[in-house]
Amino acid sequence: MNLYSLIRDVKDFPTEGILFKDITPLLQDREGLRASIDQIAEKLEGVEFDLVVGPESRGFIFGVPTAYKLGKGFVPVRKPGKLPYEHISETYALEYGTSTIEMHIDAIKPGQKVVIVDDLLATGGTTRAMVNLIEKVGGEVAKIVFVIELDSLNGRSVLEGYEVESLLHY
Ligand code: IMP
Repeated sequence: MNLYSLIRDVKDFPTEGILFKDITPLLQDREGLRASIDQIAEKLEGVEFDLVVGPESRGFIFGVPTAYKLGKGFVPVRKPGKLPYEHISETYALEYGTSTIEMHIDAIKPGQKVVIVDDLLATGGTTRAMVNLIEKVGGEVAKIVFVIELDSLNGRSVLEGYEVESLLHY
């Protein structure tokens, strides 16, 4: 199934000059939703791993069903102040300012292999910070899968050395 028709462009969101890729039409569409998870799972065929790691909040939407389908566990990476147990943090640069993400200290055991699933690769800052969190606790990133990749922002360049695949390219 071709998913491109289920992605909506929204001009000037969240700020002027940004053309936002809105995945909500895809989520609303029962065939589109199923196909997106099936296609992410196909990208992980033959990949050996223990856990799916996904960032708040759209990484949860695609990450959990992928983990369920493939019989794996799921690790949430969250915005600051949301995780109840002991956690580690990573702060990274945005176009203006910084952002921080957090993960429980015991979410991944040393040597465990994980895949990262998220909705969209833009500059790669969020994903790079996730890789850093995973590696801090001794996890290994086996593959990274996105629904959408904004090719012109070249987020792949900060993920060099990792296997990265996306369902849709713009
Ligand atoms: P990055 O850190 O610059 O790669 O930005 C990726 C993160 O920002 C992802 O977790 C996305 O959810 C979010 N994001 C950035 N641009 C868009 C967009 O156009 N549509 C949906 N999400 C976006």
